[in-house]
Order: sequence, then C-alpha cells, then structure tokens
Amino acid sequence: MTDKNLPGHPFITYRNNELYVEDVRLADLARQHGTPLFVYSQGAMLSALAAYQRGFAGRNAQICYAMKANSSLAILQLFARAGCGFDIVSGGELQRVLAAGGNPAKVIFSGVGKTRAEIRLALQADIGCFNVESEAELDAINEVALSLGKTAPVSIRVNPNVDAKTHPYISTGLKDNKFGIAHEHALATYQRAARLPGLKVVGIDCHIGSQITQEDPYLDAMERVLELVQAIEAAGVHLHHIDFGGGLGIDYNGDTPPAADALWAKLLTKLDARGYGDRQLMIEPGRSLVGNAGVCLTEVLYLKPGEQKNFCIVDAAMNDLPRPAMYEAYHQIIPLNPRASQTSIWEVVGPVCESGDWLGHERALAVNAGDQLAVLSAGAYCMSMASNYNTRSRAAEVLVSGNQAHLIRLRETSTDQMRGELLLS
Ligand SMILES: *Cc1c(COP(=O)(O)O)cnc(C)c1O
Repeated sequence: MTDKNLPGHPFITYRNNELYVEDVRLADLARQHGTPLFVYSQGAMLSALAAYQRGFAGRNAQICYAMKANSSLAILQLFARAGCGFDIVSGGELQRVLAAGGNPAKVIFSGVGKTRAEIRLALQADIGCFNVESEAELDAINEVALSLGKTAPVSIRVNPNVDAKTHPYISTGLKDNKFGIAHEHALATYQRAARLPGLKVVGIDCHIGSQITQEDPYLDAMERVLELVQAIEAAGVHLHHIDFGGGLGIDYNGDTPPAADALWAKLLTKLDARGYGDRQLMIEPGRSLVGNAGVCLTEVLYLKPGEQKNFCIVDAAMNDLPRPAMYEAYHQIIPLNPRASQTSIWEVVGPVCESGDWLGHERALAVNAGDQLAVLSAGAYCMSMASNYNTRSRAAEVLVSGNQAHLIRLRETSTDQMRGELLLS
C-alpha cells in the first residue's frame, strides 16, 4: 500500500493510487451518490477549529463560526457541539442555527442591511450581539427593541482602513468599502449608541476581508481597533468584548497563510502588551474552518480537443462551484484514480451556457471521458453560494468521519426546484 499525502490537505490521501477522504474511498461515494458531490472531512474541520482553540487556551474567548462559508445543518451541528457560536448575516441563517441546535446567546449578527423583520427575529431569539454597521441601523435596532420591550446588545463594526491585500471583492476593511463605521466617526457613533434607550453597548468589532494570507493586516487592524477602544472607554463607554472578525486564508494553491494558533500567539502578545488581554475575545472565522475540509467530486462528460484549446467538460459547473467565475479563484483539480498516461493541457469547464463557466484554466491532466475528478478546497463558499442557474439541481453532500460516511444533504430534484412556483390560472 502506497500512501501519498497532499500538501495542505492532511485528511485527503492517495492510497494505492485511489483518492480517499479520511478512510473513505471517494470513488465509492461517487458511485453511491452520483456526481457532482460535495464530500467533507469532519477531522479536517475539527482540527482547523482546534488550532484556534489552542491559540485561545486559557483565555475568555468565543469562536463564532461565520456560517455563510458553509451553512449546511450537519456542519452547524458539528460546530455547535464543539462549543462554537455563529456569526450570521441574515434571518435565514439564524433559523438554520436554531434548527441545528445552536445556542442563540452565542450568535452575533453582522451585515450592512439587516431588515426590521430580521432584527425582530434576532431579538426574539435573544441573540448575543448585533454587529452594527451604520448609524441608521442603530436607530432601527433601537426602535425595534423598544417596540418589543427589549434591550438589544450591540457592538459597532469599525472600519480600521487597513489593506487586507486580498481580492477586491472580499476586501472589507478599506475606507471606500460599504462595511463598518469609519475610524474617525467611531467614537461619536458609540456615544450616540450609548444614549439610545433600547441599546446596550457590549463590544467592538472589525472584519477586514477574506482569504488573508499575511499577518500584518491583522496586527495593523488590532492596533487601530485598540486605539479606538481606549478612546471610547475614555469617553465613558465600557466595551465588554473585542471581536476581531474572521478572514484567515487557506492554502488553495501553495498559499501560505499563518497558522491560526501562531497568528493568535502574536495577536495576544500585542493585546496583553496594550492591557486588553483580559477582555472577552470573539472571532468570526469561516473559510479557515471549512475550506480545505471539502472536495467536490465531478465526472468528465466529454473531451473536446481543439486547435486553440482543449476542453474537458465535467458535470460540475459554476452553479456548484461559483468561485472561479466570481473571483477568478484557483481550485486544484485532481483525479480520483490517476492514469499513468501522458498529460495534456485542458480547460476544465462545466455544462452551463456561458463562457464564465470554468473551473480551471490550463490544467495538466491525463483524463478520459467517464473519469472522476476532485475539485479541492471546496468546503467554503461553494455549496453555500450554489445556485440553480440553468435549472441545475444542487449537489448532494456527505460528511466523512474515519471510515463512516453520512449523507447530510440529498441531491436536489427538479420538483424541489419548482416548489413554490405558480402557473397562471
Ligand atoms: C464573511 C465574514 C466572516 C468570515 O470570513 P472568512 O474569510 O470566511 O473567515 C467573518 N465576519 C464577517 C462580518 C463576515 O462578513
């Protein structure tokens, strides 16, 4: 038996030239459940979480999984059981937390456009904190809270104006982003929040972007946030917690983000040095907990060699894996059963009728029609961003633990898709 580990993917291995997630052979799952199919490693998720937990050992810290990265119920259940809270961005996400048995007191609600109905739902569920992104939102939460006879716990998302050095669509901490309250207005906004009778100020938060692979933006953001903490508290508003958001990147293709425990060792040293080490800390990691725990299995439908380009047409598409089309993101694509034959260069594309529907450019692969491939790093921002474009049904999902495979989502049917649509009478 020859085992080969994939760098950056300790829970995915080739054994005797066959690809496994933990101790489950992926070809078996593809046969049993069909493709496209998402397969997740429970061990990979828990070990990613353990890195943060090690980083925070002995601290008063709450990890709130940013569930928009992957909001499947069984995955939420796994993180809830492991002690996580959740960072939500909609009322729908709150309903998912409740359905998965999560503790609403450990929920924080982020996002620039919370509706009054969502605010009401969150207040009725007694969530832990609203991360407020504008003055107008403060007023709305205050009004809804007063109408319910409740006090809303709030934190203000401050925009530290640091460059996270990531893709512009997922950079959120710069002045010209729609997120948060500008550094220079933060103090006044806190003073205003403290005067509103339906609100209780409990914390401060920031989130500077996603797929961050360097530690400097975090250290800079912390510096900027702590300056504000000092100014806000000097003005008489106490901050019970400090929330540093999420954003830590993963290795998609040789990326080298800092390890969560090493990063937090540095951040905590800084926090201690500034005298804030005893505050409750919150973080909102998403991608770094689930991204590299998932793969998407797909079958090669047709090979279409051409003069300019060779197309390898597979049964997964931009509706299943939207990141390449949206962000020109790179996902590794590897065979379930590698062939010994010569590789050619392929454009790996899906069946959707648009040229943006590609999964990988210029990939060296030895493939035949009928072969199965695994798209790696598909645990975050894939299934949760999947759509029904081209009336394609969303894929099934399997969670693997050791040699056990649990189906956690049935493949969607066309009937599921059309439910709720009405014909004219
Ligand atoms: C998306 C998001 C996160 C998680 O980001 P990751 O890059 O997946 O860690 C955390 N906080 C907020 C407010 C977000 O919008």
